[in-house]
Amino acid sequence: MKLLVTGGAGYIGSHTCVAAFAAGHEITVLDNLCNSSPEALERVERICGKKPRLVVGDIGDRACVRALLDAEKFDATIHFAGLKAVGESVEKPWEYYENNIAGTLVLLDELRRHGVFNFVFSSSATVYGNPDPANLPLREDAPLAALSPYGATKLWLEEMMRAMAKADPRWHFMLLRYFNPVGAHESGLIGEDPGGIPNNLMPYITQVAVGRLKELTIFGRDYPTPDGTCVRDYIHVCDLAEGHVAALAKVADLPGCTAINLGTGCGTSVAQLVASFEKATGRPLPHRYGERRPGDAAACWADATKARELLGWVAKRDCDAMCRDAWRYQSMNPDGYRRG
Ligand code: NAD
Ligand code: UDP
Repeated sequence: MKLLVTGGAGYIGSHTCVAAFAAGHEITVLDNLCNSSPEALERVERICGKKPRLVVGDIGDRACVRALLDAEKFDATIHFAGLKAVGESVEKPWEYYENNIAGTLVLLDELRRHGVFNFVFSSSATVYGNPDPANLPLREDAPLAALSPYGATKLWLEEMMRAMAKADPRWHFMLLRYFNPVGAHESGLIGEDPGGIPNNLMPYITQVAVGRLKELTIFGRDYPTPDGTCVRDYIHVCDLAEGHVAALAKVADLPGCTAINLGTGCGTSVAQLVASFEKATGRPLPHRYGERRPGDAAACWADATKARELLGWVAKRDCDAMCRDAWRYQSMNPDGYRRG
């Protein structure tokens, strides 16, 4: 297929380019590089022997999107482009609504004008809000809620896509709800490259391990979980990338709008992840226990049955592989792509 991949220079996008090339697809990336580097696509070329075409532009720039769609006929879009920091979205809600919602509406409008109706959307487990423990593992029909402006952008875009699919049967939407993507390509060439001090657990861990940060604070050890630390469904980014390829193979066959969890179906606690990481590096990771982080759910993991049944996809890589690969990338690129 000829694919338009928005946000394809980013963390999940670049890994998906590798998986999509392996499956024989052609790729054009549309990315404004607000949170990524074109170096990521150079690295994709080192892994795959070919490079996605990069169009530097904004999904909300109608003239840019139109010119791109006038010039190339795509079979499907994978839409990664968006701002994704929960805390920042609380500080700057307008920027999140404008970038993620207004931008996506321009993109969708131009796609329909150009007859490109197969659309794979990066949604998130954040749409489940703070899940009721009775609903674990989370199925796609669990109640939805937004706890931040970021979460609201995912929830509202999902809602818009459901309505658009209902109104116009030419649309085929896949709403892929990612759980906690971590890790990196096994080559160590591409991985997560957060600017500033990371908010997420795995990049924080790897930056402590590489000496950029002093120690990890584990937020809370009094949760109602087996070891008192929060439980999440960490998924290797390469499994996630392969999930997109599986979704592409089915998107045109599934009518309307289909929400699918991409997770492993297993919960791992923060303390367990730290232990896996220590095993991967062979040395202790400096850490201490601190207060709970406001807003954190005690536990959140996926029921991954629908992905297996509809897409024939299951996550294959375990926590040890996630930690090993995250560490390999961080040690090969201690300062991310800047001086890697
Ligand atoms: P990322 O920041 O690495 O990638 C996003 C890419 O989109 C970046 O390259 C950025 O430059 C680009 N971008 C942002 N706004 C744009 C715009 N208006 N026009 C063009 N390009 C734009 O993030 P990621 O972790 O790869 O996440 C990809 C998608 O997956 C996001 O939509 C995110 O919300 C979603 N998601 C991520 C996670 C996670 O933990 N990483 C979890 C659930 C969902
Ligand atoms: N976490 C932590 N210390 C950190 C960052 C995160 O203990 O420096 C915990 C956090 O409380 C949560 C888990 O790690 O329980 C995953 O957090 P992350 O922000 O990566 O993802 P979330 O599930 O919150 O989207």
